[in-house]
Amino acid sequence: MNYLDWISKWSSYKPDKKAVKSLDTGLSLTYKQLDDKSRKVGSYLLNHFRLKKGDRIAVVAAHSPEYLMLFIAAQRLGLILVPLNFRATEYELLHYIKDVNPSLILAELKQFNVLNSVSKTKIPTTIVKFDSFFIQADKQALDLENSNFTIEVDQPIFIFYTSGTTGKPKGVIYTNRMMFWNSLNTSMQLELTSLDRTLNVLPPFHTSGWNVLLLPMLHRGARVDFLKRFKPKKVLNYLESEPISLFLAVPTMLRMMAKNKAFLDFIPNKLKYMVVGGEPLSIPLIEAWAEKGILLSQGYGLTEAGPCITSLHYHDAIWKKGSIGKPNFYVDMKIVNSENQEVGIHETGEICLRGNIVTPGYWNNSGYSFNKIREEWLYTGDMAKYDEDGFMYVLGRKNQLYISGGENIHPSEIEHILYKYDLVREAAVVGIENDNWGEMGVAFIVLKNDNLDVTDILNHLKKYLAPYKVPKDIICLDSLPKSGIGKIDREKLKALYKILDHDKKNVV
Ligand code: ATP
Repeated sequence: MNYLDWISKWSSYKPDKKAVKSLDTGLSLTYKQLDDKSRKVGSYLLNHFRLKKGDRIAVVAAHSPEYLMLFIAAQRLGLILVPLNFRATEYELLHYIKDVNPSLILAELKQFNVLNSVSKTKIPTTIVKFDSFFIQADKQALDLENSNFTIEVDQPIFIFYTSGTTGKPKGVIYTNRMMFWNSLNTSMQLELTSLDRTLNVLPPFHTSGWNVLLLPMLHRGARVDFLKRFKPKKVLNYLESEPISLFLAVPTMLRMMAKNKAFLDFIPNKLKYMVVGGEPLSIPLIEAWAEKGILLSQGYGLTEAGPCITSLHYHDAIWKKGSIGKPNFYVDMKIVNSENQEVGIHETGEICLRGNIVTPGYWNNSGYSFNKIREEWLYTGDMAKYDEDGFMYVLGRKNQLYISGGENIHPSEIEHILYKYDLVREAAVVGIENDNWGEMGVAFIVLKNDNLDVTDILNHLKKYLAPYKVPKDIICLDSLPKSGIGKIDREKLKALYKILDHDKKNVV
């Protein structure tokens, strides 16, 4: 039994322990049942589709226990899963499919119909309906011959396309090595045990849908419930009625839950804390949940590394509000300045990472390609600093930083101040090219009600920020554009500003 095959291990240690449940279909499986069903999926892939090590399977579907079985089978057979965004357009799907050249595509009905209508010259691959695939797989005999797997530590198991917040999505190669060390780090940091239980609402086309909580939980023999589509009220009700011990979300989800009527009387059943990450967390949001007695443990990470790099323990969630905590146990990290020297306390620099959690590279050398990984260190492009207690703070991305009138400005600093203003629900600041300033800051905000008074907001900003940091324009929107995982899409905001009518601009 291979040390990377956790499902076989738990199936032998605790065969009757509950492993997964789907809220959508009611399917509920013990570790032994999950193991057996995954073996059948493996047999079907081998015997029917004749897939071989290194072949890619592209999947366009929401998360579910079946998707997990596919992962287990793929890992055992050395196949590479390519989870694709089920909200992607035909044009986007074709881009990914061309890039990875899969040997098999599994797609939910809607996307199956879209892809199946595309000409065979564009997709010369077998396309199968996701549900039908598992019905057929389950009819396979449980082939014990198929039990001796060699899971190789450096074999890729996923290709994840990043959200594309900074440009075109890049296919990050994710290996078993990364998965193992990331799960070890995360389960240590979050103090996971086999008694823990979570509800997974994150989509599978992003590393966080697998590697922030799902796989670390299975590493510890814990239980994962699945809900395909995030619905704030349904999640709040579930956390009230079921003994879910931790819950993972991106800030947008927590904001939607806090806005929901059901939040007013929300009393969680057994929730120890929430795990949140992926983008900056606003202080008012941390406070809104703290008022309910729920602490948010913030993490920082990226698809190219782990992804879990730092964690703020929930004990520190209040006195170190806004921090991303400290590096996880087996993370080799440094923060360097522009001269490549390690920074001191309160000095800003770029986060660099190396070791077992870092990707070997991008599929087809897309995006930044391997140039980003210099001298064995991954230069993340994320700017951060330490405080006097060793807690880290992310200031934003190097390429989100803009230079206005010769001064470097980090949007996150301004966004934190905007969030202090009672009426502001969401905020993002971007640098826009400008003849006078080189670049000028533009703040996009979503208000809790319709009364925008730009002057009040400007006065608020001026109270906290040096004049050169105060955005030159403030634009009010009904909502901010988001990427597939719910992160604010800054490129779209920049494009929007360019086409905005002059009378909607409030340049000061
Ligand atoms: P792309 O790389 O294509 O632009 P993306 O940035 O969304 O897409 P991901 O790997 O999904 O790719 O996100 C990682 C990035 O998210 C990090 O590099 C960092 O900029 C940001 N991030 C992650 N966690 C946090 C956090 N807790 N606070 C602030 N920013 C964060």
